[in-house]
Amino acid sequence: MSDISTLIKAAGSIPAAIALMTAPASAQIQAEPVPDDPDNPLESLERPAQSQEAGPAPVPQLRSARRATGPNVLAIVAHPDDELFFAPVLARAARSGGKVTVVFATSGDAGPGVTDMEPGAELAALREEEARCSINALGASEPRFWQMGDGTLAVMARKPDSPMRSLTLRVAELIEEIEPNVVITWGPDGGYGHSDHRAMNTAVTQVLQAMEGARPDLLYPALPVSDDAPSQLEGWAKTHPSLITDRLSYEPRDLDAMRAAANCYESQFNAAARAALPELLHAAVWRGNVFFRLAFSRSN
Ligand SMILES: [Zn+2]
Repeated sequence: MSDISTLIKAAGSIPAAIALMTAPASAQIQAEPVPDDPDNPLESLERPAQSQEAGPAPVPQLRSARRATGPNVLAIVAHPDDELFFAPVLARAARSGGKVTVVFATSGDAGPGVTDMEPGAELAALREEEARCSINALGASEPRFWQMGDGTLAVMARKPDSPMRSLTLRVAELIEEIEPNVVITWGPDGGYGHSDHRAMNTAVTQVLQAMEGARPDLLYPALPVSDDAPSQLEGWAKTHPSLITDRLSYEPRDLDAMRAAANCYESQFNAAARAALPELLHAAVWRGNVFFRLAFSRSN
């Protein structure tokens, strides 16, 4: 499945997106402000050292993920192009000297998008190439591909040999290796409900909630509920503004990076749609700040 294609199809033509750029000031999305250091978009995510009190043995056992300096951002998503939903934040973090790692659990082998390609390895290879292009445009490290089956992550999740079980173990290993201080993945809604997205949420959340000691901030990208939310976002899950904890700002050059990243996904969107997506999200939703909901309290 193509992820953003749902949005793009709903978004319609470029003029529709551009029209949204002229939305009146009253259309500004209301959300709780969060202090934001202009030099570090993730500064607000820093939090006090956490209690080391003993408790039930976590499964899996992981070391502290807190690093002494700089943002260390880990984005774990289901498919190539998922990262576009918060891409400016990745671009800014990387530009600010942070470490940015993006992992794709599947390579989208079941999502031919706008191509005539059959599902399978050839399609997956193409989508990996597009993802590399995107991540390079955002300035992040070389992406990682776990090459799990597109559309399979939530299948028979209870079984010992299920994709979910494998996914959870891989996430735990990754957290231990990367030691991020910020983790971004899909929220429980999965954006528009894709089962792979929901599976990513549960796997990542499951691992982090079991960690002992300082755990990374876990952020879910959030589309705020708004009376004047664009019709193009109908069908996408919304988050009440009172629950939006982080508004991470970006600059025009970060949006430019996202434009370049979106343009990499030629298999998923036609040229008009690739151009329209950043404008839609920037003009109708973000307006300079990408919204997130923190999964866990920073005081815990
Ligand atoms: Zn996806």
